[in-house]
Amino acid sequence: MSLAPEDPPGNALSGKALAIHRRLCGVYGCPIPYFHDLDPVSELVSSLLSHRTRNAESGRAFKALRARYPDWDALIAAPAAEVQETIAGVTWPELKAPRIQASLRAVRERAGGLDLGFLRDMPVPEARAWLEAIPGIGPKTSAAVLSFSSLRMPALPVDSHHHRVAQRTGLIGPKVDVGPSHAILRAQLPAEWDAQTLYDNHEVLMLHGQRCCFHRNPACGRCAVLDLCPTGQARTGARTARETVALHP
Ligand code: SF4
Repeated sequence: MSLAPEDPPGNALSGKALAIHRRLCGVYGCPIPYFHDLDPVSELVSSLLSHRTRNAESGRAFKALRARYPDWDALIAAPAAEVQETIAGVTWPELKAPRIQASLRAVRERAGGLDLGFLRDMPVPEARAWLEAIPGIGPKTSAAVLSFSSLRMPALPVDSHHHRVAQRTGLIGPKVDVGPSHAILRAQLPAEWDAQTLYDNHEVLMLHGQRCCFHRNPACGRCAVLDLCPTGQARTGARTARETVALHP
């Protein structure tokens, strides 16, 4: 995917979104390797486990489910209390256990089996709508299933770190929640971007939230996008674009 500086921005925020993408790709190194190669149903389970939970904990819970149940049909058939006990390390296991079972049951009923490979043949908006018609599956989960799984489709997930960086840099307004931010942030990026480039966009904004734009006390003084960020400029006093580029060529 070409990221030449002369790529025409669709509007002011598209230009800014591209500038942030390029700058952060320079810092974190694009292309970013995919962290999962799960089939889409397994990715759905993993994504539902991960909500508001540290990666290490949700990873442990996912492995525990795999070890306890020979397949996802067995998980659906298990008592909810047993599933809850198996995923006890994640946040809200009492809610997630029945939700995972209900979501898998809905997939099986609507798809005629626990296989979501057919989504690959749909346009991304249609595939997302198919998933989001299932109660408990929102924009973040649908995008994660399409992007992170072996489907490798061009969908843009937005997690809490990505959302925080987008809000502070002004790509989205201060009152835009994570759910609605998916469509806004996707629309700012080129429609023709492939799966890897959209994945990179999510990953570099997420990594920036984890490593620099912290929830409390963001490290604006060493931030690669300070000259593009009104929040950081208000915190530190403006740094010129030339100074930022000199620090992060
Ligand atoms: S300048 Fe500060 S608030 Fe803005 S993105 Fe960087 S770390 Fe976050």
